[in-house]
Amino acid sequence: MKSGFVSIFGKPNAGKSTLLNALMREKLAIVSPKVQTTRHRIKGILTEKDYQIIISDTPGIIEPRYKLHEKMMQAVRSSLEDADLALLLVDIRDNWEENDTLFTTLKLKAPSLVILNKTDDVTKEKLAEAKEYFSNKPYCKGIIAISALKKTNLDELLKAILERLPEGQPFFEGDDLTDLPTKFFVGELIREKIFGLYGDEIPYQTTVLVQEFSEKSTLTKIRADIIVQRESQKGIILGEGGKSIRQLGSEARKDIEAFIDRKVFLELFVKVRPKWRDTENFLKEYGYNG
Ligand code: GDP
Ligand code: MG
Repeated sequence: MKSGFVSIFGKPNAGKSTLLNALMREKLAIVSPKVQTTRHRIKGILTEKDYQIIISDTPGIIEPRYKLHEKMMQAVRSSLEDADLALLLVDIRDNWEENDTLFTTLKLKAPSLVILNKTDDVTKEKLAEAKEYFSNKPYCKGIIAISALKKTNLDELLKAILERLPEGQPFFEGDDLTDLPTKFFVGELIREKIFGLYGDEIPYQTTVLVQEFSEKSTLTKIRADIIVQRESQKGIILGEGGKSIRQLGSEARKDIEAFIDRKVFLELFVKVRPKWRDTENFLKEYGYNG
């Protein structure tokens, strides 16, 4: 039996969350074309007869500007500490040197594989060049080209992971796909819709707190607060005559219903909490423990 922790690291937007979902064959982590969508360490537990891989998605690595960012980077550090293997994910179309600098500053203790992502979008020549560039780096114990979006070459990646996974008993019993409660994923699905529906700074100034999650006989009743920093942002979330929040509610409800496989009654409220991103107590209340 093999069993161990594998953590995905990389710059914002490299495709870390897409990769976790592809490996898990289930949408656990929310995805968006915008940077800094992921704020937590999200563990996917992949259990088979002869192995258990605990795969951690992490926030993209950034220079912290708010306490919220510091919590996000704590989530990265905790994944660094217990990793048996690191997957260093590169958007192949991105600047390679910047990625190299980042991977070097991580000071990894665990062995790491460089994973070239988004190869669905590049020429063979560019791919060969990237392989050449990263294969000479000291942190690179192997290099694999994939497309997380198109799910190409994931079998090879899985094989490479298993080759390097320690022998041991499973860390988690049963067939749970994650260690986080359903409530957490409900909040994330609402947050994903906010990233999709609202522009500019709104998604970054917003978080979601699920206040009620109760299973009734025919449906699940969910009540969630959408937290913003300013009164003006509340107006934007609501939209004219509540039009925007109704759309948000209806899109989020559909995804939540698909996720929990049950009919959902979803109630959303908007609350203004000035400077929540920089306030320890709010961050704690909203589940950002790093
Ligand atoms: P993260 O910030 O590293 O978690 O990145 P996400 O998983 O949220 O993905 C960021 C964006 O890149 C999304 O729009 C994804 O659809 C896109 N993306 C992820 N993987 C691939 C890939 O293999 N090919 C292409 N073309 N796009 C991808
Ligand atoms: Mg992400």
